[in-house]
Amino acid sequence: MGHIIVIGAGIVGLATAHHLLREGVCVTVVDRDPEGDKASFGNAGGIAVTEVIPASVPGVLWKVPGWLADPLGPLAIRPAHAPRLIPWLLRFSRAGRPSEFKRITAALAALNTRVYDDLLPLLAEHDLREELQQLGALTVYEQEAAFDEDAMQWGLKRSCGIEVRTLTGNEAREIEPALSQSITRGVFTPQWSHVRDPKTLVDKLRQSLLARGLCIQVGEVCGIRPGLEGGAVSVGLGDGRWLPADKVVVAAGAWSGLLARSLGDKVLLESERGYNTTIPDPGVVLSREVIFAERHFVATPLSCGLRIGGAAEFGGLHAPANFKRSQALARLAERYLPGLRTEGGTCWAGHRPATPDSLPVIGASPRHPGVIYAFGHGHLGLTQAATTGRLVSDIALGKPPLVDLAPYAISRFN
Ligand SMILES: Cc1cc2nc3c(=O)[nH]c(=O)nc-3n(C[C@H](O)[C@H](O)[C@H](O)COP(=O)(O)OP(=O)(O)OC[C@H]3O[C@@H](n4cnc5c(N)ncnc54)[C@H](O)[C@@H]3O)c2cc1C
Repeated sequence: MGHIIVIGAGIVGLATAHHLLREGVCVTVVDRDPEGDKASFGNAGGIAVTEVIPASVPGVLWKVPGWLADPLGPLAIRPAHAPRLIPWLLRFSRAGRPSEFKRITAALAALNTRVYDDLLPLLAEHDLREELQQLGALTVYEQEAAFDEDAMQWGLKRSCGIEVRTLTGNEAREIEPALSQSITRGVFTPQWSHVRDPKTLVDKLRQSLLARGLCIQVGEVCGIRPGLEGGAVSVGLGDGRWLPADKVVVAAGAWSGLLARSLGDKVLLESERGYNTTIPDPGVVLSREVIFAERHFVATPLSCGLRIGGAAEFGGLHAPANFKRSQALARLAERYLPGLRTEGGTCWAGHRPATPDSLPVIGASPRHPGVIYAFGHGHLGLTQAATTGRLVSDIALGKPPLVDLAPYAISRFN
């Protein structure tokens, strides 16, 4: 395989470039702003291998009205975007049927059980091993009832090989003393890890790949066409240039749906915007990522500060961010981390590329085999990037895939 163009310099595009370069492929990454802000920079930093349960769990729809009633709550739908969201929501509700739920959980577990096999060598090869903190994660609960309600999900995770240790409130505070007395239950998941700073990781990986021969082109991709300019497939840029290649990988995060649809491939992909506040001097110490189960937010101790984030806002790719959400999350955290100082925090928002079934799209376009999709990782793009890159590289080179790729095919949206 001669030359492959990867659209998108986020963590998924770069991890794909890594695997292709290793195979001796000539790789060009095209991005309108390769060093600019993106979901891959500001996320919570979790290598959340234990997260094999899709967002659409049976019964979740009953909770939606309550979440929507709180203007700064965990879920928001911008009214102007609501009509366009209907097909996605219908598919989301289908994903919550018991049989679908089980199938999706198995498909997420198939990816997540491979994560460290692909991630650790990638980090080691780029001298980034120290960016990974393998300290597990702690999920905490205020109410026994909420803990009981999640028991089925924890059982399912166990059945997928995930190590789950249930704790009392005091045991949770023994491993994270900053937690308030209101915490009555905890679950420790030792296989989870977090990176020291997702932006540093992406920046260093990009620089290391450049040093190994990666070519980066700055440009807005406006179209993909088969068979122009002597290449099997060509990528059209906003300035009118067409770049020929043998294959093209679409790893453009939440914008990937536009490119897939321009090729005639149907896909349901939405921006699920998340928010956070990163506090450089928080006045409290956490050692590992803490997930506040009932309130749907997380706190991760990063090298740049304590990052408090969450929220799922559906408003399309162009709606301005509402940073009141970032501030609300920081205020919420004050209730669980006594002594937390939120002054000096930096607010951030980013577009998670969300499919309704929580599964990424990994595989060749059925219409244009020269185009390979690698997007739609939702809450797990950092976690699954190295594995996705490996799978895409195998697809591009015609090697047998390491996992059954059927659940991730774009044709599931037909
Ligand atoms: C608040 C928040 C917290 C999160 N926490 C976690 C976590 O703890 N763990 C985890 O695993 N995941 C987490 N995620 C999800 C994760 O960040 C994303 O799934 C992942 O970053 C997606 O990476 P990507 O490379 O697909 O997309 P992106 O990082 O969005 O990169 C896409 C790139 O494509 C480029 N691009 C798009 N369209 C075009 C075009 N037409 N032409 C040229 N360039 C284009 C963009 O400029 C961008 O650079 C979180 C996300 C958010 C928002």
